[in-house]
Amino acid sequence: IHPTSARRPHAIQVQSDNTSYSDEYITSKFFNRGSSVTVVDGQYLVKPVAQEIEFQTQRKVSKTGLMMIGMGGNNGSTLCATILANRHNISWHTKEGLQTPNYIGSLLRASTFSIGADANGQDIHVPVSDMLPMVHPNDLVLGGWDISGLTMDKAMSRSKVLDYDLQRQVAPHMALLGKPLPSIYYPDFIAANQEARADNLIPGNDKQAHLEHIRADIRKFKQDNGLDRIVVFWTANTERYADIIPGVNDTADNLLNAIKGSHEEVSPSTLFAVAAILEGEVFINGAPQNTFVPGCVELAERHKAFIGGDDLKSGQTKLKSVLAEFLVNAGIKPLSIASYNHLGNNDGHNLSSERQFKSKEISKSSVVDDMVNANRLLYKAPEVGAKGVPVGKGEHPDHIVVIKYVPAVGDSKRAIDEYYSEIFCGGRSTINIFNECEDSLLATPLILDLSILAELLTRVQYRKAGEGEFAPLYSAPLVKPGTEVINSLNRQRNALEAFLKACLGLEGSSDLLLSTRLW
Ligand code: NAD
Repeated sequence: IHPTSARRPHAIQVQSDNTSYSDEYITSKFFNRGSSVTVVDGQYLVKPVAQEIEFQTQRKVSKTGLMMIGMGGNNGSTLCATILANRHNISWHTKEGLQTPNYIGSLLRASTFSIGADANGQDIHVPVSDMLPMVHPNDLVLGGWDISGLTMDKAMSRSKVLDYDLQRQVAPHMALLGKPLPSIYYPDFIAANQEARADNLIPGNDKQAHLEHIRADIRKFKQDNGLDRIVVFWTANTERYADIIPGVNDTADNLLNAIKGSHEEVSPSTLFAVAAILEGEVFINGAPQNTFVPGCVELAERHKAFIGGDDLKSGQTKLKSVLAEFLVNAGIKPLSIASYNHLGNNDGHNLSSERQFKSKEISKSSVVDDMVNANRLLYKAPEVGAKGVPVGKGEHPDHIVVIKYVPAVGDSKRAIDEYYSEIFCGGRSTINIFNECEDSLLATPLILDLSILAELLTRVQYRKAGEGEFAPLYSAPLVKPGTEVINSLNRQRNALEAFLKACLGLEGSSDLLLSTRLW
């Protein structure tokens, strides 16, 4: 199936008493099966449990606008140009020959899930985007803000990502997008080296006025384009971390007051998030800074607005989430993981500043934590302190991340990783990986996937057995407070598969493969 194949009516029809279809909804009854474990005198007592949940998915997809903050950057301009190339079916010449547009790299548009097996036992794979009704990327209405006032055709050429022949043909369409909306610029949050591009600004220093300005921008874009839903996506420069200050950004009310008082620790990204939340729209943070200060998460919970993040993991860290899991799950013990990057685009320039790099470093560092925690045969658990509370994190591989700015390589990021591991009876294994890739061409499909999935989640409601009304899903970011972060790419993918299937009343793929074991 070609990733850009024309839209089709919903292709999957589940025939079961647990799944029903109306013109408006797909409703499914699902049994969330798991096990509840208690430890008594060193013995694990395990009880299978099942919770009945109904999901209701609205079938009509929203007419969706994607408003990017940092629209004129490498990711923003590449996303706009590639959507326009797909929408207008623009092919272009490269030294390899004629290239047609596609959505390769999008999990939704270019990967598949198995929905079961046919009579011969052959798995039937469907595009992930066929599982439930989803917005097609070509239908996203594009807009957004940038502190740089270059028109979008010029922003694309400044980014130096796409082939010239594509740029040439798509430029007239990009020019129609005009200039990004003026944005808010608090110089302390991004690197000083960005100042030269900051020529498209909402005037003044009053943060409450800025918030209202952004809210009005969102409302106007929605109205002008007749949209049902807006996804506001931060793909602007990485900011430094905001300090978490009691009384300022620790609760929703304090944060709203801090904005009223134009407190200096309210970052532009948090202001955009608050604007989206108050408008009841989706906000996704594609960069690593702590936009979602505790007050912002509380505000999203209060308004049941969807927020998601942080950061995109497109290259080195994504590979790490696969490779570290492979090693640890194979019973091999990584002793150190040393990662070096260099890149020459504007993101690299911004990250060459220490405080912005720090945000990136933090977001890249925790990626192996859950795999290490899941294997206390290889890594010693933390000591237990006086009150039964663990002290520290326990044994952990050494892990460093270095990023350097090398202008000559432009958007083509290079990453070098060494995995140094303990193997059988004191042996050692060293795996070295060198990878080179155009950064923005990896990131763009992730921005699409996240936006489209977020829009879908706003159309799914659920109720537990015995409850009256359907209610929206939990909407806050990262992970729900008190639940574990899952970094493993495979587990994340399985979670998505199981969730989409649950909405159809189907079980996730168990990979039990009983057909290979039974006569
Ligand atoms: P970029 O520097 O090319 O683009 C960022 C844009 O944001 C610039 O045009 C800049 O003018 C604009 N900007 C800065 N502050 C702004 C503000 N307050 N309001 C509006 N616009 C503002 O960077 P990029 O390569 O497009 O990456 C964008 C972000 O995505 C970065 O934070 C980067 O760390 C993150 N990210 C990228 C990748 C990837 O490319 N593979 C992966 C993960 C995260």
